[in-house]
Amino acid sequence: MKIQAFFAQVREFFFPRGCALCGETLTGREETLYGLCDPCREEFNLFAEADGMDYCDRCGRPLISEIDRCLPCREQGERLCERTAVIYPYSGKYRKLLGEYKFGGNITLGLFLAEKLKEAYTRLLAADSGGAMGIGAVQSSPLLVPVPPRPGKWRKTGWDQVEYLARLLKREGLPVYRCLKRLPSLSQKKLNREERLRNLRDRFVLTRPAPPAVILFDDVITTGATLEACAGALKNAGTEKVYAICLFYD
Ligand SMILES: [Zn+2]
Ligand SMILES: [Zn+2]
Repeated sequence: MKIQAFFAQVREFFFPRGCALCGETLTGREETLYGLCDPCREEFNLFAEADGMDYCDRCGRPLISEIDRCLPCREQGERLCERTAVIYPYSGKYRKLLGEYKFGGNITLGLFLAEKLKEAYTRLLAADSGGAMGIGAVQSSPLLVPVPPRPGKWRKTGWDQVEYLARLLKREGLPVYRCLKRLPSLSQKKLNREERLRNLRDRFVLTRPAPPAVILFDDVITTGATLEACAGALKNAGTEKVYAICLFYD
C-alpha cells in the first residue's frame, strides 16, 4: 500500500484530478490514494456503525415498513442465492461514484470500492458467526467469485470493472476464485425480471470445480436475475451455499 500511496501522490501532483465527487483539490496520503476528499469519503461510511435501519434478510435492501423481508422478495419465493448484502443505493452521489469509476476511467476509485467490498465480506462472515446463514455448516469458508460480464460489454467499455476489483481483493489476501464464464446473451436493460431469468438460463458455465460455499460479487444489482443464474450454475455443479455482495442496488 505504501508504494501505491506514493505513486498516487506523484500522479495527483503532475495530473491533478481532484475529488471524483466534488472536484476539491486532493491533499495528503489517503485522499490521493482513494481519489476522494476526506469529507466525501466520510459520506460513504454507511458501514461504520449500525445505522438503526432494518434490512431485508434476502436481498439486503433497506426495509421501509416491512418486517424481515421486503415485499418483492416475499413475492418471488425461494431463491438460489440465499442472501445478498448490498452497500449503496444506485442514485445520487453513489451513482456518480460508480460512473466515474466505470465510464470516467478513474481507476483510483477501484481501490476505494474494493475496500468497501472487503468490509462487506468481513461483515457477512461476522453476521454468520452464530451460524444463522448456514455458512458455518459448510466445511470450508466461502470463496469470493466475481460475476463475469457479458462478452460484448467488455469490449465496449474496454475493461472489466468487476475483474479489476477482484484483482485488488486478491492482492489484499481475500480468497478470490474465478470459476464462472458467461456466454453471450441479449442485453438485459429492457427486460423485466422474468424475461431476464429466461434470457440468462444456462448462460453461465463453470470453468473450475465448484467450491462448497460461494460469495458472488458484482457492482450493481437490479432484479437479481444475474445472481440467480450464477447461483444456478454453481448449485448444479455441487455448491451448497451461495451468497452475494453487490456494491450498489437499483
Ligand atoms: Zn470531495
Ligand atoms: Zn428483499
